[in-house]
Parts: sequence; C-alpha cells; structure tokens
Amino acid sequence: MKRRNFLLGGILGSGAMLTTPWISSWASAPEKRRRSKPFMDGLVISTWNAGIVANEHAWKTMQEGGSALDMAEKGVNAIEADFSNRYVGLGGLPDREGTTTLDACIMDSKGMAGSVMCVEKVKYPSSLARLVMERTPHVQLVGAGAQQFAVEQGIALDDYVSEEAQQMYDEWLVKSEYKPVINVENHDTIGLLAMDRMGDLAGVCTTSGMAFKMKGRVGDSPIIGAGLYVDNEVGGATATGLGEAVVRTCGSFLVVELMRQGMSPQEACEVAVDRIRKKHANVKDFQVGFLAVNKAGEVGAFSVQPGFSYALHKHGENKLFQAGSLFKG
Ligand code: ASP
Repeated sequence: MKRRNFLLGGILGSGAMLTTPWISSWASAPEKRRRSKPFMDGLVISTWNAGIVANEHAWKTMQEGGSALDMAEKGVNAIEADFSNRYVGLGGLPDREGTTTLDACIMDSKGMAGSVMCVEKVKYPSSLARLVMERTPHVQLVGAGAQQFAVEQGIALDDYVSEEAQQMYDEWLVKSEYKPVINVENHDTIGLLAMDRMGDLAGVCTTSGMAFKMKGRVGDSPIIGAGLYVDNEVGGATATGLGEAVVRTCGSFLVVELMRQGMSPQEACEVAVDRIRKKHANVKDFQVGFLAVNKAGEVGAFSVQPGFSYALHKHGENKLFQAGSLFKG
C-alpha cells in the first residue's frame, strides 16, 4: 500500500478508504496532476496595475536565461525601485510614527524561503529576502537585524524619503485615523508568481504595508503561507489586501493546498475568499485578493471587493485583467 493511502487508512480505517468518495477523489488528485503536462512556455502573474511593469521585467529576465526565482526577484525589483510608488519600496507611505518600513518574502522551486520584515532603508527588500534564504540558515529576519544583515552583505543603506509620502503623512496626522480603505490608495503590494521554461515555479511578495500602520506592525506579505506560498509540485499563490485577514486564514497556503486536493487555481482562490468571509463579520469593510497558478499554467484570481486588477504574461502577451469578486460593488 502506498504511504499516503496507508496513513489515510490508518486514520479512517480501510473500509472508509473504499467507501468515502470525497476521500478517494482527494487521494487520487495529486496523481492525476502529476500526469498533467507542465506548462513550459514561461508565465508571470502579479497583483495590481503595477504588475504589468513587473511582468515585463520578469519576462525579460527569463529571456536572458534567468530562473523562475530570478524572474520573481527582478520583476518586483522594478517596482521597488520606482520611488513614485506609494505602496511598495522606499517611496511607500510610512507608519504612524512617520517611518517607512518594508516587508518582503520570496520562495523558490525547491521550497526554500526567505523573508524580511519591518526593515528600513533597504531599496530592494525582496532581494534581501532572497539573501536571507540563500546565505543564512534562517527564513525570517526582522527590523534592525534584517538591516544589519543587509549591511553585512554589502548593501548600502538608502535614506530616501518621499516628499509626497511625507506630505500625505502630515495630512493624516491631523486626524490620525486608522481605517483600511478598500482598494484605494492606502494599501497595496506586489505579489508575483513566475514559471520558467523548465516549468519551475517561484514567487515573491513585497510591500511597505498598510499606510500609517502601528510601529512594528507586520501584515501578510512577508509571511510564508500568508502573503505567498509556492510548492513546485502543485502551484503557487499570493495575496494582497488586509494582511490581518490573510494571516488569520493562512491564505496563500490554503490556496495551494486546495489546488493539491484537485481544485483549479480559480476554484481555490474563490474558496479561500469564502473562508475569509466566513471568519470575518466585517468582511464588507475590507479588500483581500488572491492570485494562483498551477503546474499546468492555469491561473486563478478572486477578491472580496471588486476592483482587484492583476497582470498576466502568458503566450507572449502581457495584459491587465479584473478579478471576479465576492461582492459585486
Ligand atoms: N497585504 C499588505 C499588508 O497587509 C497590504 C496590501 O496588500 O495592500 O501589509
């Protein structure tokens, strides 16, 4: 008996194995998927309008011979370096003390992961997350420790402060209200999933987090399993929106596990959004969006509120789409 069937048999008894249709389809789903042909044309999918630019950079990286991991990193580096962006990188809106702190995580096709949280003055937090993954025995580094590691790796600290972000902060200080606004300009992130021409997957998620967040607040974006999860045997997922809701439900991990059980990426994203609905009485008041891709190169996208855009680079075309949503507006 195969090991998984043995384990299931152990839990349920062998009679249950034979008579429970849900379990038998669940158990055979991974086998079916392994037989399905992996997508080998290259693919990139990423959150929000800025995804178009990120996808271009990821694609170019692939054409130059880069791996899925290189595609993911270089794709979002382009957005991190754009200081006119208020939601990712050092141009991002600050916390309630007036300091911009950045969160990012990255995962490769071997299941390795790296993450930095609440790091200051680092222009490319996703690259720093990659260094954590590749050059330390750890997965996560936080705050001053993450910054110290950056310096040790030869990264020059960057003191950039956006005048516009500072002005928005000054305006916010007048009332100092902390209200996550749906879709609109006080939260955003770039999550990107890349598949290279070997059919291997990697992903990255990077953000300055919720605007005017509490000092030290960390959302879902740098949390492996919340803002991002990649399993090269199954697929990958990334999330954006109210990080607290995504962390509570292990959102991206949930999406990947639902795909492992046989769901399409689209079904998995919809079920994950529904899980968020079930667990949050105030679901009408916030936005969360998921993106997913499986090994066959099928993608899915779904959000709580309308207005979640994503960019897909597939079959040589890079296009912006609107995801379906739980509420219709
Ligand atoms: N998920 C991010 C956070 O909670 C923000 C966002 O995606 O808009 O920090």
